[in-house]
Amino acid sequence: MYLQISNNNEQKHRMTFEQLNLIQPLLGPLDKMGYVEPTPIQQQSIPHILEGRDIFGCAQTGTGKTAAFALPILQMLDAKRVGPKSGIKALILAPTRELALQINENFELYAENLNIKHCVIFGGVNQHSQVNALRNGINVLIATPGRLLDLMGQGFIKLNQVEYFVLDEADRMLDMGFIHDIKRILPKLPEKKQTIFFSATAAPDIKKLADGLLKNPVSVNVTPVSSASELVEQSVYYVEKDKKRSLLQYVLKNNDIEHALVFTRTKHGADKVAKELNKSGIRAEAIHGNKSQNARERALAGFKDRTIRILVATDIASRGIDVDRLSHVINFEIPEVAETYVHRIGRTGRAGSLGVAMSFCATEEIPYMKSVTKLLNKKINVVESHPFA
Ligand code: AMP
Repeated sequence: MYLQISNNNEQKHRMTFEQLNLIQPLLGPLDKMGYVEPTPIQQQSIPHILEGRDIFGCAQTGTGKTAAFALPILQMLDAKRVGPKSGIKALILAPTRELALQINENFELYAENLNIKHCVIFGGVNQHSQVNALRNGINVLIATPGRLLDLMGQGFIKLNQVEYFVLDEADRMLDMGFIHDIKRILPKLPEKKQTIFFSATAAPDIKKLADGLLKNPVSVNVTPVSSASELVEQSVYYVEKDKKRSLLQYVLKNNDIEHALVFTRTKHGADKVAKELNKSGIRAEAIHGNKSQNARERALAGFKDRTIRILVATDIASRGIDVDRLSHVINFEIPEVAETYVHRIGRTGRAGSLGVAMSFCATEEIPYMKSVTKLLNKKINVVESHPFA
């Protein structure tokens, strides 16, 4: 189900898909799936995409962003009466196999009544069936960067007919180190095209990438967060940087913490923290973009079934983590962007259960902590009685 992350963007009056000028063959499947109303990102993006504008979209998975680009692209391709000989008209790049498959499923559903061919390609599996699908004449290609480059190199894919280009979860692409692949793919796309760029955050490196890609884009945004759940009990521990790992062990040994998600700023930091915890006898795993898909899935499964007590994650890698009854979130480092703090602690205190969020703040992080309290507009309890104060 679609998840309403922000209510700032909620429109007061109800809107319908008809009002977005979507064609009948698209409305049928939406109705069948029980979509009553376009989500905020759909309301904000679809009209502009249909007008041919580039989009810079700040939205996470769960907001309905896939339909926000898939529906107008299908509508425009239908108007152009594309066929098997038209070539690849739309390219959707996604960072992971799961996301690519999910996007493909969406196209499958929405394109039910249209004569538009789509397929998905990703690495880690034999290329045979993917190559066969491509041979049938594809109009919409959903791909992860590595396999795309691979099949382009082998001459199975030409991108010179692309008119619509979607870069989905751009921040995760960068986190997973796909920037070089993206830079190799971009020159193969025609100069004249419509580009839709989605990212969950608008960090400076994301903005830079977007600036190079987008022409006079419309910005749409559905992720602002400014309030933390009242159900999360927050506290801050002031501690010097080099004492944080000892403090973490102390906190984990001396508190009734059954299950915790620990956030670090960097991938390297996540590895280091997990390694030291294991050394001290606390079962922990790190997940981040550098880990293989299988390693991430394994760590997550272990955390979910509670064989792993502590999961250490970077912000981006943590995004797909949906864990019930997560009691504790520990900010091993204070995020530079205050909204990230709210996202992090929002992992606990869900669905009416109480959560605890602890933050370790070093001297140089005090300004970040100040922006957090400013955003939350409330004081956070300081824990003074710890051996590393
Ligand atoms: P996404 O953010 O694209 O991954 O979409 C999240 C989920 O919301 C998917 O399961 C979609 O099928 C669903 N969804 C997308 N748009 C709507 C809508 N307008 N109404 C209800 N559900 C939707």
